[in-house]
Amino acid sequence: MLLREVEYAKPASVAEALALLREHDGARALAGGQTLINVMKARAASPDVLVDLNGLDELKGIELGPDGTLTIGAMATYTDIVGSAESRARPILCEVCSTIADVQVRNRGTIGGNLCSNDPTNHLPPLMCAVGAEMTIASESGERSVTARDFFLGVYLTAVGPGELLTKVTIPAGKHDGFAAITLGVDGTCIANAAATVNGSVRVALGCVDAVPVVVEPASAADEAVREAVRGADLDPPSDVHASSEYRIHLAEVLAVRAVRQAAERS
Ligand SMILES: Cc1cc2nc3c(=O)[nH]c(=O)nc-3n(C[C@H](O)[C@H](O)[C@H](O)COP(=O)(O)OP(=O)(O)OC[C@H]3O[C@@H](n4cnc5c(N)ncnc54)[C@H](O)[C@@H]3O)c2cc1C
Repeated sequence: MLLREVEYAKPASVAEALALLREHDGARALAGGQTLINVMKARAASPDVLVDLNGLDELKGIELGPDGTLTIGAMATYTDIVGSAESRARPILCEVCSTIADVQVRNRGTIGGNLCSNDPTNHLPPLMCAVGAEMTIASESGERSVTARDFFLGVYLTAVGPGELLTKVTIPAGKHDGFAAITLGVDGTCIANAAATVNGSVRVALGCVDAVPVVVEPASAADEAVREAVRGADLDPPSDVHASSEYRIHLAEVLAVRAVRQAAERS
């Protein structure tokens, strides 16, 4: 289906992008367009103005601090992340980004777009919750920082409000992470997924089982402790054409155990 007519702006700075978003009620940021253009074609979104962030080099950097903290610009693509020497400081990031969809989507899709769309089947929201990422959100009145656990508010809904932009994602140092997913086909959409980190304590974020990632903190990395923590979350995922609610609950347990085992093996 063809796109409805839409105004287009390509700002030269983040400040200009924020001004455009404030000036136009119906404006929407355009990152890789891998979700937004499709939902516009389906008429599920009809922005009046697209504010294209692709010219903003200030949103594309990937930096590694002396303490191992990674700072990733919202406009870094999955391909940028996979190819970056800095990103390898937290290897799970490259591993997961290299499994998202196909090469075309990975070349265009961005970490910021993935998080801001907050599709419950996306790979990155649970991963960011597990690794304890912080999101920097900018508006014309300044910047604020939001933890991943507070960032995701509902299906397609995040802490980024009107007139705001996600500018960067900050990820603390750590290597003991795991990720497991059951997808439709080799590189298809997730039916269920789980991200885990075992850095002293154990944290698991479950995807595709609720509107936002469900975070559980098992008492230990032992399989039974992980299963018990997932059961304690009283999951009530939706049923759809790909999986019943009961099957997703079963997968959540199995994938949580796999993700934690992978993380623990790296300890
Ligand atoms: C065939 C196909 C298969 C896919 N499979 C998967 C998959 O298996 N797993 C997965 O995780 N994803 C998958 N995706 C989605 C893909 O990862 C998208 O790239 C991603 O969800 C959106 O990123 P984007 O950069 O394309 O954002 P866009 O589509 O440009 O934007 C998405 C939304 O985020 C907003 N936005 C973007 N950047 C910002 C910002 N910096 N600040 C504020 N708001 C912003 C936009 O306004 C829009 O509402 C798939 C996509 C396709 C087309």
